[in-house]
Amino acid sequence: MARVMVVGAGGVGRVVAHKLAALEEFEEILLTSRTVERCNQIAESISSRHVQTAQVDADDVSQTVALLKSFRPDVLVNVALPYQDLALMDACLNAGVHYLDTANYEPPDNPKFEYSWQWAYQDRFYDAGLTAILGCGFDPGVTGIFTAHALKHHFDEIHELDIVDCNAGSHGRAFATNFNPEINIREITQPGRYFEKGEWITVPPLSIHRPVDYPHIGDRESYLLYHEELESLVKHIPTLKRARFWMTFSQSYINYLQVLETLGLTRIDPIDYEGTPVVPLKMLKKLLPDPASLAATYTGQTSIGCHIRGIKDGQEKTYYIYNNCDHAAAYQEVGAQAISYTTGVPAALGALMVANGTWQKPGVFNVEQLDPDPFLAKLGDMGLPWHEVIGQPSPFEAI
Ligand code: NDP
Repeated sequence: MARVMVVGAGGVGRVVAHKLAALEEFEEILLTSRTVERCNQIAESISSRHVQTAQVDADDVSQTVALLKSFRPDVLVNVALPYQDLALMDACLNAGVHYLDTANYEPPDNPKFEYSWQWAYQDRFYDAGLTAILGCGFDPGVTGIFTAHALKHHFDEIHELDIVDCNAGSHGRAFATNFNPEINIREITQPGRYFEKGEWITVPPLSIHRPVDYPHIGDRESYLLYHEELESLVKHIPTLKRARFWMTFSQSYINYLQVLETLGLTRIDPIDYEGTPVVPLKMLKKLLPDPASLAATYTGQTSIGCHIRGIKDGQEKTYYIYNNCDHAAAYQEVGAQAISYTTGVPAALGALMVANGTWQKPGVFNVEQLDPDPFLAKLGDMGLPWHEVIGQPSPFEAI
């Protein structure tokens, strides 16, 4: 029997708490966050068993260490914001607790999506005999595990990877983001970036796009973005010749975003407002809908998968692996929309993999470095069934 502490009580934290509570392997669950009332609301929504709650400012390592030392979890699940990753890794090292997160560290004043800061913890986790798992949501997360599964069971070499992420849901609001608005807008206003023939190529934001056919949804315009798992996948699968990430946006969403950018409302540097420094994007976050509040009326599906091309037994092969998730079904089950659900389920399952020893080994790991089989064997039962399409023409042309 294991103990788990969760940090972060937003949309994703809600799903993680519900899913951990459904796993009998966890005898004690502690849900913590900056605002304890949000933890209490989530705990009250879980009728099957008691979930403990506590307040913590995860930027303050000593506060987290004190909680870890008194609660003594086997693993900490970080679903707060990317800004807290390093402080929480430090706290885990101090208290001797395994660590898992769903998003790479970002310095607040510099939206850089790279693993360098967290990979630098490799020796410290290794020497302490502790495991740190980075990026165990859906993307990053399941997309890396899907790719590891493809390499283990379907290919001798993977040459091309196109990760496709479609949200075909409808929430009825004019403009809203599906997870933390500040983190989301920082990500999609960055230049696009992809890997081809040994080089990283940078293009203006949202400048490359094309329709992609998603299962049970149909064609949706998909935009090339830089996404953090590209960095780790290119590193860990050295046969890759091309790796790209695509995400769907409606024209209306892009129009709103362009207006917000033009007005300077997506800026992350402070401006002087009548003597008070204000970061426009932080103010915008306060004005936009809380992503969790979209859940009650959200309809439609998400569809996220990996189009892969490579070689098996000397023959060229194409392969697609994906999950579709229904917003309304997720809400009915745990009171969250599908973006939170598809992130929280893998985080809870990853915590189980660490706690039961399956994914426990000293060091810092991205998910594609771990055995995909035990994880994928449980993912469907945990609420995210996955499907494979083998040998169909790829929507992406070969290089
Ligand atoms: P929310 O903004 O809804 O929730 C974040 C939570 O973290 C809030 O409860 C917030 O507290 C808490 N928090 C913020 N700062 C601190 C702090 N200093 N100490 C303690 N708690 C803090 O975000 P989401 O739930 O939508 O997303 C959570 C994480 O999941 C993010 O890191 C996001 O990037 C990641 N994500 C990953 C995806 C993937 O597929 N890999 C997809 C979607 C999201 P408060 O209530 O006080 O603000």
